[in-house]
Amino acid sequence: MRSPILDYLDSIITDTAHIDSGATADYIPELAAADPTRAAVALCTTNGTVYASGDADHQFSIQSMSKPFAYALAIEDHGLDYVLDRIGVEPSGDAFNELSLDPETGKPRNPMINAGAITTHTLIKADDGTTAVDRVLAFFADLAERPVEVDEAVAASELRTADRNLGLAYLLHGSGSLSGDPAKAVAGYIRQCAASVTVSDLALMAATLANGGVQPNTGKQLLCRPTNRHLLSVMASCGMYDAAGNWLTTVGIPAKSGVAGGIIGVLPGQVGVAVFSPRLDAHGNSARGVAMMELLSEDLGLHLMEASRPSRSSLWETQIVSLDGTEATIYVLQGDLVLSSIESLVHEILTHPPRTDLVVFDMSRVDEVLPVAKRTSSETATKLIDEGYRIVIVDPEGTIEDFTDSRGRAVERWTPEQLSKAVG
Ligand code: GLU
Repeated sequence: MRSPILDYLDSIITDTAHIDSGATADYIPELAAADPTRAAVALCTTNGTVYASGDADHQFSIQSMSKPFAYALAIEDHGLDYVLDRIGVEPSGDAFNELSLDPETGKPRNPMINAGAITTHTLIKADDGTTAVDRVLAFFADLAERPVEVDEAVAASELRTADRNLGLAYLLHGSGSLSGDPAKAVAGYIRQCAASVTVSDLALMAATLANGGVQPNTGKQLLCRPTNRHLLSVMASCGMYDAAGNWLTTVGIPAKSGVAGGIIGVLPGQVGVAVFSPRLDAHGNSARGVAMMELLSEDLGLHLMEASRPSRSSLWETQIVSLDGTEATIYVLQGDLVLSSIESLVHEILTHPPRTDLVVFDMSRVDEVLPVAKRTSSETATKLIDEGYRIVIVDPEGTIEDFTDSRGRAVERWTPEQLSKAVG
């Protein structure tokens, strides 16, 4: 049976087929000659299954969608502070290829515009015999689960017309923001941009970013969580060049576009999406691609600022049972313990204090405990212990390690087997 998700993606292709505004990138001859009627869309949830429709197998160059990934590599290589000393994170409000540097620091304003991306490329560590381009391609291969190669025709074509990027690189060199040979930096950056991918590859790559840096199918942690979070923040504020504000208000997800016509988007925790259509709007973003993304965002409820469903209470149920002959209150907790869910539990305990001396928190159904929830639970435990309650935690997954109350008093732990035995 065909997945309804594929039928839905088909409808995105048909519903945007009438959009023929914009033009292929004219400053790179190979891109100018692309078939403008091609279109494709793909999505991949954090479960790792890719769904794609349209010209799903068509390969095109990744272009600026390579920038966030290269930036992540530079951060993983040197640490965030080192990279922030060299490249800012402020939206420039300028076009992607603007010759703009921060007037005070001489630094590129962010890593998503060309100036920042060329500097980024030079920060990627290359060992003997390995170039920064090799590192980037190997990273793409890990993300997309297949070898990724440079489209040599696109790379050669862009290199022949690279005056503007060369100009930028010399400017960066002059202001101290780029060490090494500017021409070599541009040649490497252009090869990075010419890596050849499909929408399916891109959706899987974006899904890794949605999944906290863990490739959903191989389970490899390809980026550490803080890098991943930083990267998504920069994509959200700077990813769509001078259309970034409009993008964030309408589509509302971290994204990056490329001049070959691709756009990737990431809804953290849920899904990576990718679209392709070669005609670009005035900002250098795919015109039909933006329309496809708007539809996806609307239909799938992707907008980050959409008031999300209030999180469930962490209290699944309260049981009053006899444990080895002693009456006990069992609070069965569930889901992720975040501020809003733990607050409702604490409120319940404070307004209706347990009527038994023995109080058990059964955390068998809990997935994750955020620091704020851990702190709030410790403080609640302190109050209960001070009032003479005996507290027991059942936490088979070890979601709260070394649980103590806020004065460091260890809290008794039982296994689920001990609990069921005591219930009898
Ligand atoms: N390689 C392209 C350039 O530097 C990337 C620009 C883009 O995709 O927006 O001009």
